[in-house]
Amino acid sequence: MSVVKEIEQPVTESLFEQAGKMGHEQVVFCNDEATGLKAIIGIHNTVLGPALGGTRMWNYASEQDALTDVLRLSRGMTYKAAISGLNLGGGKAVIIGDAEKIKNEALMRRFGRFVDSLGGRYITAEDVNMKTKDMEYVHMETDYVTGIPESMGGSGDPSPVTAYGVYMGVKASAKKVFGNDSLSGKKIAVQGVGQVGMYLTERLVKDGAKVFITDINEAKLKTVAEKTGAQVVGMNEIYDLDVDIYSPCALGATVNDDTIKRLKAKIIAGGANNQLQDEKRHGYMLLDYGITYAPDFLINAGGLINVGSEYYGNYSRERSMTQTEGIYDTCMRIYNLADAEGISTQEAAIKIAEQRIESIGKVKLSY
Ligand code: NAD
Repeated sequence: MSVVKEIEQPVTESLFEQAGKMGHEQVVFCNDEATGLKAIIGIHNTVLGPALGGTRMWNYASEQDALTDVLRLSRGMTYKAAISGLNLGGGKAVIIGDAEKIKNEALMRRFGRFVDSLGGRYITAEDVNMKTKDMEYVHMETDYVTGIPESMGGSGDPSPVTAYGVYMGVKASAKKVFGNDSLSGKKIAVQGVGQVGMYLTERLVKDGAKVFITDINEAKLKTVAEKTGAQVVGMNEIYDLDVDIYSPCALGATVNDDTIKRLKAKIIAGGANNQLQDEKRHGYMLLDYGITYAPDFLINAGGLINVGSEYYGNYSRERSMTQTEGIYDTCMRIYNLADAEGISTQEAAIKIAEQRIESIGKVKLSY
């Protein structure tokens, strides 16, 4: 997916400088000769609760790229949990290597042992190149894993919940920009009709929106178009369409110098992670261009809400959906703060997340 694209410039700082700059609490290097496991677990912040975030396996070009990725992703999880009102911290793990070649039961179970050794400071789940079966192996060695299949008593596929949160974000953004949140007659471009994009498209079409879809996978595209009646467009064409809303649901970094200039949409609201190529610069460029951006780490938090709910026990999909509905109000809060302070919506969202971490951290000081 978008992993390598999102990695930035060469890094010259020491390990502690890198972790310190982003405010990480702990970085764990896991090495096992017998299985070939090389993994890094990044624990960014545990003020609100244990650090929860998935494990990604990727054939990184260098160990530095892997470290950069895990530091950036784990920090993102802190904000996602905090702004969603969850009592969870931010963490993430990366396993270095080609999943097709080196991933097997022993490697995943060895990784599970490392997760277990952290005693619950880090809870893992699926991410890129991880399958349900892999999580079953991890689960054989630790209870600090979530997002387990329904057949094993877990919460199952989080994508419908994620898509529901994105839908809430789309509606809240419509309310802000068009004065009401009806999507009937709105033109919406959905980039990527995988799990999240497909469920989202279904909802949008049901609401009477005119939906345009694109995907590199022709078969998926055809299936979703036939199922929903959405109109298929070309991969590059998606940025130039005369639409009201652009919804990136595939890759990161699609909001950049080139695309912002091309977009005619007044709203960007989608499920993909790290949509802004440069969080600060493009956040402000959107402000200048009068495009309302629904921060991705808030509106795609339904999946985290769902796995968090599984981890804390007595899982109910209904409760996860209700909690995810709250994304609408949080979006409005972000827009109000951004307007009041003249800051980008991305910055407003980070501000709200950081304020919650700070205030709840103080609550915990007294016993
Ligand atoms: P997915 O792999 O099921 O779907 C992604 C889709 O994007 C695929 O159909 C793929 O073919 C398509 N795609 C890839 N490159 C493309 C391109 N250049 N142009 C158009 N389409 C392209 O993944 P998903 O679970 O639907 O997740 C989508 C995004 O949402 C990812 O960025 C993911 O990190 C993020 N996300 C997902 C969840 C979740 O619950 N699934 C939660 C939070 C965030």
